[in-house]
Amino acid sequence: MKTRLFTPGPTPVPERVALRMAAELPHHRSEEFRQTLARVHQGLQSVFMTSGPVLMLTSSGTGAMEALVINCFSPGDVVLTVNGGKFGERWTELLTMFGMVPVELTVPWGEAIDAVRVRDVLRAHKNARGVLLTHNETSTGTIIDLRTIASAIRDESEALICVDGISSVGAAELRFEEWGIDGCVTASQKGLMLPPGLTFAALSAKAIQAVNSSVTPRFYLDFRRALKSWENHDTPWTPAISLIVGLDESLGMIQDEGLTEVWKRHARHASAIRAGLSAIGMRLFSRNPSPTVTAAWLPNALEWKEFRDRLQSVYGVRIAGGQGQYLGKILRVSNLGYHDDMDILAAVDGIERAVGECMKVPTPGEALSAARVALAP
Ligand code: PMP
Repeated sequence: MKTRLFTPGPTPVPERVALRMAAELPHHRSEEFRQTLARVHQGLQSVFMTSGPVLMLTSSGTGAMEALVINCFSPGDVVLTVNGGKFGERWTELLTMFGMVPVELTVPWGEAIDAVRVRDVLRAHKNARGVLLTHNETSTGTIIDLRTIASAIRDESEALICVDGISSVGAAELRFEEWGIDGCVTASQKGLMLPPGLTFAALSAKAIQAVNSSVTPRFYLDFRRALKSWENHDTPWTPAISLIVGLDESLGMIQDEGLTEVWKRHARHASAIRAGLSAIGMRLFSRNPSPTVTAAWLPNALEWKEFRDRLQSVYGVRIAGGQGQYLGKILRVSNLGYHDDMDILAAVDGIERAVGECMKVPTPGEALSAARVALAP
């Protein structure tokens, strides 16, 4: 039986990528690796849709979030955050930890912040140095209209627009330069189809100015060093060499498929998952559902742990549960990364069967049929 990952990180690693990472390790100060870095830098610029630098760090996603905060802001800076879930909340925690002054806008879990609310709060806090957003709130399966929100922020203020794109970059539409984003981070174990351990931070010219004027202490995560190295296709420290070699391959896969086709595939797959879950009576959790992670309420009579374990042990399908107060109340199915139509049907069918078995009700294939219809071109 195969393990089929439908979790919002880690996501499946394509065999092509795994094989590249299994090859003999190059030295990171060799000409061969410099060329790999040059290719990867360019590939990352295409995925973020920017002509500016996209730095690489050795960490999980939270490390890149921390790096963005300490490099762009200084203690005492007023920074607006939007907390609509676990990861929006993390921005506030990070700012607090480093002595910045967060102004937190809270949104009920499952709802998306709108541009007018962000604009109104910025009007009331004219001294805000930045706005920290979560493009795709993985804990609730909710995506925000980043293009419109970024444009409203730009019209109102000079604040840096910093975005957690951890569960969206390389999977959902995000146009860094065109939308006027200043800083955006993502991690390897999501849309980029790699194991965890590598993260990325795209920076605008305005963000680079902020990096140079921040007085927050930093060493390992200092973007000033990383920027200098980036210009020479180098890294300040020993990089996660094998992950970068794997990235070279996965970026090639995205390029071969075409970024906009990748976005479309994710949107289509998420709509098939939504159709499947709805067909068996599961109510969607989000008012603005994400194209990469689907959250839905579990039926009252379904015990989460029993269901999750059955789904995994009988069907090999691994999904995620709710976080925080929603543990045991919702499920989350990810279609991030390396999935084709048949994978999506397997996940939906596995879920339907396991629900039926746990609740002792017949499963005539309603979820599967609905997903098939939704996948039809
Ligand atoms: N932000 C978002 C939107 C995420 O989905 C995640 C991981 N699920 C994180 C931040 C944190 O990343 P990590 O667990 O890799 O530190």
